[in-house]
Amino acid sequence: MNQYYPEALVQKSQEAKIRAYCPYSKFRVGAAVLTSNGTVFTGCNVENASYPLGLCAERTAISKAVSEGYTSFKAIAIASDLEDRFISPCGACRQFMREFGSQWDVYLSKSDGSYKLMTVEELLPFSFGPDDLGARENTVGNSKL
Ligand SMILES: [Zn+2]
Repeated sequence: MNQYYPEALVQKSQEAKIRAYCPYSKFRVGAAVLTSNGTVFTGCNVENASYPLGLCAERTAISKAVSEGYTSFKAIAIASDLEDRFISPCGACRQFMREFGSQWDVYLSKSDGSYKLMTVEELLPFSFGPDDLGARENTVGNSKL
């Protein structure tokens, strides 16, 4: 899928939000990540009675994609119940996204479906990533294959 519609991705993130498991914060979040070949994986936040174990929607969606063999992404949309603010990914999720590149799109949305487009680079400038460890694809140690 070379062409995608942000509204459709935001819609999928809103649908994923319905499954949010957030008995403690009551703060529902959904995410929908679009792979480079057009497959969409969704995720919601998954909280835990041991609070630090809670997982954000963005990382849930990306982990689902990676576990199915997808590591190249075009975009991710994030949804919450906030009416007057665009939901913004936490620092951990920004770094998690950065693992898979800095030049892909992040749609921050409001509950009415309106959105703001940013890139991973804009959300996490001067970032640390796989290339800093010489761990790019097709690279073993310091020698490129
Ligand atoms: Zn997060």
